Amino acid sequence: MTEMRTLKVALLGCGNVGAQVARILIDDAGMLASRAGARLELAGIAVRDVDAPRDVDLPRELFTTDADALVRDADLVIELMGGIEPARTLIVAAMRNGACVITGNKALVAKDGPTLHEEADKAGVQLSYEAAVAGAIPILRPIRDSLSGDRITRVLGIVNGTTNFILDQMDTTGAQFADALAEAQRLGYAEADPTADVEGHDAASKAAILASLSFHTRFALEDVYCEGISSVTAADIAAAKDAGFVIKLLAIAEKLGAEGTKTGTKTDAGVSVRVHPTLLPREHPLAAVHGAFNAVFIEAENAGELMFYGQGAGGKPTASAVMGDLVSAARSLVLDGPGRAETTTGQVPAAPISAAVTSYYIGLDVADQPGVLARIAQLFAEHGVSIETMRQTIHRDSDSQTESAELRIVTHRASEAALAATVQAVKGLDVINTVTSVLRVEGV
Ligand code: NAP
Repeated sequence: MTEMRTLKVALLGCGNVGAQVARILIDDAGMLASRAGARLELAGIAVRDVDAPRDVDLPRELFTTDADALVRDADLVIELMGGIEPARTLIVAAMRNGACVITGNKALVAKDGPTLHEEADKAGVQLSYEAAVAGAIPILRPIRDSLSGDRITRVLGIVNGTTNFILDQMDTTGAQFADALAEAQRLGYAEADPTADVEGHDAASKAAILASLSFHTRFALEDVYCEGISSVTAADIAAAKDAGFVIKLLAIAEKLGAEGTKTGTKTDAGVSVRVHPTLLPREHPLAAVHGAFNAVFIEAENAGELMFYGQGAGGKPTASAVMGDLVSAARSLVLDGPGRAETTTGQVPAAPISAAVTSYYIGLDVADQPGVLARIAQLFAEHGVSIETMRQTIHRDSDSQTESAELRIVTHRASEAALAATVQAVKGLDVINTVTSVLRVEGV
């Protein structure tokens, strides 16, 4: 058997995201090696202050303030410092040195994407930045790879958790903008200086990246029209609500209709890339995105409508996106070709349906007698199935002058085996006329 190769990973930054990336690299080294086909060795972590306290316990000897030296000797460089410089110089140096680069730096990618891509192409290395848009949500790779055989016509994104939290708070409590912002700051969703979020600048960077990938054109930050949410009032929200709408800050990239020219040929009217508060019908899938969550809604010619939803920020969720890019880049180095291929190293067995654990809805037609509910509840308890809700409706048959009751029970999560045994036992009760339905419930 051939010896597994070791790839050196340089980590630039050990803050919210970097610390989690370092933790995963160390704790999940075995899993990552099997997925990547190479050992990923954390060679060092560049920071400003090597003695600063960290969110994660990490070996002191990994830290350095010499980012240049660290980058020079790496196969893979993960940039999680943020800001434009020195991040840009370090990324370019790393790529010129033959390293693949992974970054979460939306500000830098939106500002300097074209130059960075050019450098990556020249050096023949991968530059990936899944974490730069919508944190944990895999969105850039699906746009770039999965939808590369389709034509995207429109992208609508809730890509800033802070503003979604504020607008959601205003919508649910009737609060004014300033009070909702103060609450977001108290809960740690908004920075002390919230300008980049509330004025839409952060969302604008992401809009430029989404538009560039969706429309196969490099859009710069200056191409994005940007309006924030600081002038949205409680009265605006109430009026929208009254009319059946919810207000969301959306990053929008949409292809405008083709216009006929004098000669009758069609010209492309272009792509509108913009960020602004937008009214959405309350039944639109994006209207159901609450709190600090993010979601991206895509319309494509053949795929139709798609929605991607999840946590748009936070150390661990964002680190997940970084690790995906890292494994993919590592595999490209191992295979000396394109990124991730399918791996079958998991070897997990397929579980039988009896091992499934879920909630259940059970409909029962029962005799309307005293003590029936208690007997049924006791049977459930004896089988370890706990009841979340139980509703009873009485039916009266005027011909036979008899009464029966319809019971609708929703359980907490239980194993399929326990539920089957419970239903069997319930059927044996003399007060049960029929078990009318047994259905599995998800998402409660
Ligand atoms: P952070 O908590 O502020 O951490 C930044 C880290 O970079 C710190 O460890 C800092 O070192 C180091 N650093 C900064 N300037 C440096 C320099 N000149 N030389 C060496 N080290 C330097 O940032 P973060 O929240 O982890 O975000 C990192 C990147 O991910 C940013 O581009 C951000 O936009 C992006 N991102 C973040 C999130 C999120 O939820 N946080 C989500 C998506 C994308 P010291 O610790 O010594 O000061």
